Amino acid sequence: MTLLTPHKDVSAFLASPQGLRIGDARIETSALLDVIDPSFDTLATQVALGGADDIDHAVAAARAALEGPWGSITTHDRGQLLWRLADAIEENKQIFGELDAIDNGKPMHVARDVDAVYSARHFRYFAGWPSKIEGRTIPVSSPGKMNFTKVEPVGVCGLITPWNYPTLMMAWKLAPALAAGNTIVLKPAEQTPLSALYLADLALKVGFPPGVINVVPGFGRDAGAALAAHPGVDKVGFTGSTETGRRIIEGSVGNLKKISLELGGKAANILFDDADLDKAIEGSFWALFGNNGQSCTAGARLFVHRSIKEQVADRLAEMAKALSVGPGMDTTAHDLGPVISRPQMEKVLNYIQAGRARGAEVIAGGAQQGDSGYFVAPTVIQSVTDDMTIAREEIFGPVLCLLDFEDEDEVIARANDTDFGLAAGGWTRDVSRVMRLSDQLKAGTLWINTWGDTDAASPFGGMKQSGYGREMGEEAIALYSQTKSVWLG
Ligand code: NAP
Repeated sequence: MTLLTPHKDVSAFLASPQGLRIGDARIETSALLDVIDPSFDTLATQVALGGADDIDHAVAAARAALEGPWGSITTHDRGQLLWRLADAIEENKQIFGELDAIDNGKPMHVARDVDAVYSARHFRYFAGWPSKIEGRTIPVSSPGKMNFTKVEPVGVCGLITPWNYPTLMMAWKLAPALAAGNTIVLKPAEQTPLSALYLADLALKVGFPPGVINVVPGFGRDAGAALAAHPGVDKVGFTGSTETGRRIIEGSVGNLKKISLELGGKAANILFDDADLDKAIEGSFWALFGNNGQSCTAGARLFVHRSIKEQVADRLAEMAKALSVGPGMDTTAHDLGPVISRPQMEKVLNYIQAGRARGAEVIAGGAQQGDSGYFVAPTVIQSVTDDMTIAREEIFGPVLCLLDFEDEDEVIARANDTDFGLAAGGWTRDVSRVMRLSDQLKAGTLWINTWGDTDAASPFGGMKQSGYGREMGEEAIALYSQTKSVWLG
């Protein structure tokens, strides 16, 4: 293991507690939030810990910016600022990569070359939108009257993000919300506040007016709940677990704020016996082990046709055993980092144990790896059945569950037999079957003969208890806009 010496700006950033970012101020708090490096189970740094009063303050700053300079900015200038922020993220991708590697644990090169680069692309895509958000002229049946629509921002948006892709999840929400003309109070996950604080600084540097982007790290039960319930917040954009999603809805009822929810998943991935097997096994492997299984779209239930289940299981187990794990800042090539926290590691290990207790067979991994940090050995479990907890609940770790099936109708019904509906997919060479899958699988995103692709231009979101609203593409602009109908007599 050879650890990267942090970039000098990262060292400076971590040297003393970063304050909340409200308006153009950095606000210190008496209480501090510990930021743990999950690769070593050590304190990486501390940042200011925001609470309900700080949320109040941030909402006031966001409101002032909305009614001030941001509310009157031209669409051209709004787009330019988003583009400049994209440039700044790209120029500083090393910093974003290191910050996400330190507080999330993901390999630095992935955080830099995938998460940061795709975040910049996200801002670039949405930089083109401000000048294209158009109303309509409606041919109403009222002689002498005219009716047209204006599409306006929703207002002050509270954005609450999870820890699994700290920079990218923030970009998914911020870029469309800003493009549509809103101002922001962002509460990042308590484990991963670093890149959000850094991004707020970059936004000021490239010329965003103070108060457009405010960042308040804090606990969900405190700062997060205060944001969800705040009467001055017009909309909450949330990504996280289904359980927390329900609390957000409850919190929002006071002022009936708009909400969009990107929640959990338990994706079914179906490997048919007519698939291109090499491609399907490789794709299905990374469908789960990508981001260490900590993806809402992880292909967590792999249904394999009974005729090929032994050879598929053997190859997946072999591949899992060959994966290397290491600290986020390790420059030695490695595939996966730790899981995010000690409680998460324990939760994942408990799920594995629960599977064993019900008769499922662990054929790779199955235990903690190493004795420092929160590493779980990449795990493959076979003989999983639909009724087992590990087949029904989101594990959110490097645990691939193998189930088998006999025919297409049966497996589609079983794939859909879940409360979640975020993603699903399969592998087959049969074009008619591809059409049937695209009709019958109940999920917001289907991947067929591929897995995990997303694009700023393509809508993303869940059916059933995986949430509502679609991020990305023009749907995301709609999510952060509202329509006004104007009559002229
Ligand atoms: P989480 O526990 O629901 O937390 C998500 C965010 O909500 C965090 O910032 C959290 O703060 C905050 N929060 C917690 N309780 C809250 C409350 N009562 N009111 C307001 N905010 C509250 O989820 P997570 O463990 O960070 O992330 C994993 C989950 O996210 C998984 O279920 C995964 O499937 C889902 N996810 C979904 C998508 C998607 O696009 N559908 C993408 C990524 C992840 P704290 O950090 O203090 O807990």
